[in-house]
Amino acid sequence: MRIKPEQLKAAIAPADYYQHELPGAILKKYGWNDAGLCIFHNDTQKGSFRVNTQTGAYCCFACQIKGGDIIAFEMDKYGLNFTEALVTLAEKWGLT
Ligand SMILES: [Zn+2]
Repeated sequence: MRIKPEQLKAAIAPADYYQHELPGAILKKYGWNDAGLCIFHNDTQKGSFRVNTQTGAYCCFACQIKGGDIIAFEMDKYGLNFTEALVTLAEKWGLT
């Protein structure tokens, strides 16, 4: 069975996803959060890496990486294409 992106996004709350992927970060359930040190560049200063725990969007003001949802984050973090990210997310979150 092939999971659809909208099913994935409905099943995985961005707040839960980011708490899992960024174990050190202290995140609120809603809106934009300071996510601590950026995992996409050699970050030494907190404050530039942000995630939105409502929409799943993320961005870094220092290295300019950004994306609109947790699927894009999964692709960027693990170097996956879109389809691979869907499969990986579905497996990790027990949705297959
Ligand atoms: Zn960065």
